[in-house]
Amino acid sequence: MTTHALDFDPTEKEANILAFLHTFAENAMRPASIIADAHEHERPQGAIEALHQLQSGGMGYRSGSAVDGTGDGSPAAKALTSILRAEELSWGAASILLSRPGPGLGGAAIQASGTPAQKEQWLKRYEDGSVRFGAMALTESNAGSDVSAIETTAVQDGDHWLLNGTKIFATNGACADVVVVWATVDKSKGKDGIRAFIVEKGTPGFSIGRLEHKMGIRASETAELVFQDCRIPRANLLGEENPSAEKKGFKGAMATFDLTRPGVAAMAVGIARAALEHTVQVLESESGGFHLGYGRSRAHLSALQDAVQAMDAQIEAARLLARRAAYLLDQKQPNALEASMAKAKAGRVVVDVCATCVELLGPAALTRAHPLEMWLRDSKVFDIFEGTGQVQRLVIARRILGYTSKELP
Ligand SMILES: Cc1cc2nc3c(=O)[nH]c(=O)nc-3n(C[C@H](O)[C@H](O)[C@H](O)COP(=O)(O)OP(=O)(O)OC[C@H]3O[C@@H](n4cnc5c(N)ncnc54)[C@H](O)[C@@H]3O)c2cc1C
Repeated sequence: MTTHALDFDPTEKEANILAFLHTFAENAMRPASIIADAHEHERPQGAIEALHQLQSGGMGYRSGSAVDGTGDGSPAAKALTSILRAEELSWGAASILLSRPGPGLGGAAIQASGTPAQKEQWLKRYEDGSVRFGAMALTESNAGSDVSAIETTAVQDGDHWLLNGTKIFATNGACADVVVVWATVDKSKGKDGIRAFIVEKGTPGFSIGRLEHKMGIRASETAELVFQDCRIPRANLLGEENPSAEKKGFKGAMATFDLTRPGVAAMAVGIARAALEHTVQVLESESGGFHLGYGRSRAHLSALQDAVQAMDAQIEAARLLARRAAYLLDQKQPNALEASMAKAKAGRVVVDVCATCVELLGPAALTRAHPLEMWLRDSKVFDIFEGTGQVQRLVIARRILGYTSKELP
């Protein structure tokens, strides 16, 4: 049971920033995402660079930057502030927000498990104003939810590590300057043998494979990454090298997601809110064609009113869970359970809301006359990446019931 007093209200200054971001999301992000959706693999550079400018001015969204701060002392380093912005920007275009320059999921991994020297070396570079990307590569064709199944190997060779394996579904993987790669150093140890390694673009043996063709978030790049005898310095092992740190590999992966899941949940809330607002606007403004014969628009149908209020309540519930998970991060409190709850709830809500909105507007909503069909396609991944809904619910249930997978017979 959570007993912390909760205060989610933005300061006046932050409210002004959110209003500014709303206008930016509406005018710069949403139109660009619709074009990018129709032209996959053509990155919306204008919107991405504009987002970068916002970030450089301290008005961007930084996931996973809460615990020790990013060192720049900017308000964006606060998890709660950050996810308020994530919702607003995703209301415009979550797919473009995922394409924003910055350390990304790889940066969150370094933040969660890197040594102070590694944070200095690998995260500071994102603060010099240049357009740079980071990525994280955990998922493989046979491993994702099940981290212990990772087959990419890391073998020590003197002062180097040799990486071999293929990763899939790495967000911003092709454009990243730095990728955090999860590999096994000892397969017999299962998930306790998993460690993370920092690989720079251009390292011999590291190449980009295919770019995925996706049903949704098509403005966001998703890449296959191939490592063939990829030799990296010994110091690029993320975290401490000593054997007692070994078990921290898996925990590091999980800690990464404690930082980022509140933001992912907020992004899902942003899409759901966009879909509901659009639907309400259409229902309120629709003309004769949709009238029911007794002079009233569909917006007056009680079944439809019920659907609208139910969606609104679901979105608010997901929003509050996301904000609580971020608030706990800012309080330096454990938030693993709350982050999973927020992610599980928001991932399901965004899919349900988008599908219901399409139903309410009828066949027209299946055409490109409305952005709803795009948002419906965009929504599904929020129930998949950074831990699927099923796996989140498993984690939550185990916490509530008081056991871990290791204790199962
Ligand atoms: C657009 C996109 C971007 C992504 N970005 C990244 C990224 O940047 N970096 C990265 O490393 N990965 C990324 N991923 C991968 C994503 O995180 C994984 O696909 C996801 O975690 C699921 O893992 P999996 O692919 O192994 O699926 P599986 O684990 O094979 O899941 C298949 C199905 O089985 C269910 N399932 C699995 N285990 C259980 C269980 N124990 N109990 C009940 N049900 C279970 C799952 O919920 C799912 O429904 C991305 C994926 C997509 C689609």
